[in-house]
Amino acid sequence: MTGLNHALTGISIAIVVKRPELAVPLAFLSHFILDMTPHSLMDIASKKTFRGYLIVEAITMVTVTIVAMLLFPDQWFLIGLCAVLAFLPDMLWPFYHNGSLREKRFFRPFYLFHQKIQWSETKRGFVFEGLYGAVLIIFLLSSGAHPII
Ligand SMILES: [Zn+2]
Repeated sequence: MTGLNHALTGISIAIVVKRPELAVPLAFLSHFILDMTPHSLMDIASKKTFRGYLIVEAITMVTVTIVAMLLFPDQWFLIGLCAVLAFLPDMLWPFYHNGSLREKRFFRPFYLFHQKIQWSETKRGFVFEGLYGAVLIIFLLSSGAHPII
């Protein structure tokens, strides 16, 4: 699943659930649930293309999260926290690819689990991701934001 959809999910959970004791674990768990759905496969054959994709995605995720925090000022902290937690497990992938955590006692089972649940990563998965992201954006734009600006 793209980082943007993970972050949008965390943001939506914060806005809907509102209670931190529920929203925080739900946002974290949402990562693995979304990874179990059919989703996109990014071609990492070209490191330059993949690096560019990651930079654009990171900028988009941060921008969307900041905008959501401004649109829902009463929940800004929970929105930011849930967006980060919903994406957090993917922040460990670079340490897998460079080998620094791949064989560590705690991380090895985590990486195996994280790989195994992503049973359907295909290029066509972008269709599902696009639809899912569009639904979340429409939801967020129509959910009674009270911007501070
Ligand atoms: Zn993941």
